[in-house]
Amino acid sequence: MSESSEVDVIVSEVGPRDGLQSIHRAMPTAVKIKWIESLAAAGLVEIEVGSFVHPKLLPQMADADEVVRAARKLDGVKVLALAPNFKGAERALGAGVNVITMPVSASRAHSQSNVRMTPEEAVEDVRRVRQMIDAQDQPVGLEVGISTAFGCSIQGDVPEEYVMQLAVALAEAGVDSIGLSDSVGYANPTQVKRMFKQLREEIGVKAGAAHFHNTRGQGLANVVAALDVGVTTFDASQGGIGGCPYAPGATGNIVTEDLVFLLEAMGLRTGINLEKLIIARAIISEGLPGQEIYGHVPEAGLPKNFAYAGARKLAEVV
Ligand code: ZN
Repeated sequence: MSESSEVDVIVSEVGPRDGLQSIHRAMPTAVKIKWIESLAAAGLVEIEVGSFVHPKLLPQMADADEVVRAARKLDGVKVLALAPNFKGAERALGAGVNVITMPVSASRAHSQSNVRMTPEEAVEDVRRVRQMIDAQDQPVGLEVGISTAFGCSIQGDVPEEYVMQLAVALAEAGVDSIGLSDSVGYANPTQVKRMFKQLREEIGVKAGAAHFHNTRGQGLANVVAALDVGVTTFDASQGGIGGCPYAPGATGNIVTEDLVFLLEAMGLRTGINLEKLIIARAIISEGLPGQEIYGHVPEAGLPKNFAYAGARKLAEVV
């Protein structure tokens, strides 16, 4: 059950990129590949497998080429990789990704410190990447998550009108899908509803994924809010790995296992097998011994009467 026509919501796994990039140790390449294979076996159809950032900045992502090539061998998996700039996108394209994701920050302060560009310069960079993609034969997607869309830990408030202006500029620059990201865990459900609703009004079908971190425990509440206004793709990280090493207890992305449980329990089909997904967690510990991993559902187990959304829908019909 991994065809997208059979799912209601796409869970996009970002652990091998977002999770691992925040951990200072490197997971051995062979273990990374094994992990990605296990995630695919559990039914994940979208996996962001690495980042084409300069290896001096993030040595734990230096094997991105090799990981992309291995992931491309998996049937039915859309392989995404992050590229912070044109040069990174060139490498990602060379490695054979299906989709390049580029972060564009709505906070001027964060944009400078993260990619050393103003947001406007970052949009121009994205436009050049679109042209590079279009100049070659392979159909490759281009997605942007607008980071610090809900607030920034350096700048503070980020004006919502500016986030929307950026989204419109990115759509015009040829980006296929533009989502909103909350890397610092500032978002709340009311804001999430308002902003994703407005995003759809501004750019229509190009309105993309929700990317939430659970830093302040609001991650799944924000997911429910986004579902209410029609968001159908959510980023998540197995074991919620990542987070800030300088903020004890601050977790990374929302936990894939808990997200899948939430969605299936709400009657939304994900195509993901929770038992297999939970088994894949062990590979994180194998590759990064002692690494803290999170998740309520893996710890508590599935409820006795748990049924997947698809199974329940069938049962209801009968
Ligand atoms: Zn993130």
